[in-house]
Amino acid sequence: MKSRPSAPLPLLVALGLLGGAAAAVAWQPGCPLRSLTGLKCPGCGSGRALGALVDGNVIQAIYWNAMLGPLVVGLLVAGWQKPWRLRRWMLWGAAVLGFGILRNLPFYLLY
Ligand SMILES: [Zn+2]
Repeated sequence: MKSRPSAPLPLLVALGLLGGAAAAVAWQPGCPLRSLTGLKCPGCGSGRALGALVDGNVIQAIYWNAMLGPLVVGLLVAGWQKPWRLRRWMLWGAAVLGFGILRNLPFYLLY
């Protein structure tokens, strides 16, 4: 029995992130975590970061969300690498979680 090729899940996740950020630029919803707790989630500022990227301002995009660019590029690159294993997903999840913690520490100077 021949197995069906797996969908490039990282590529789909990267495209989902870009689509979500594009929707955030157009729609500009507030972050529920930020509005309830005052804490910034890993995705806070990603809409503004994408808007800055569209304007060609990479430095401003990094200021708004330093994780968005590396995450999307990493997932796009990883989409071509097979197989995509749970361990890699856990590393990406740990990186995103670590960024979410880091950006709420008092010494973090970016948004
Ligand atoms: Zn947020």
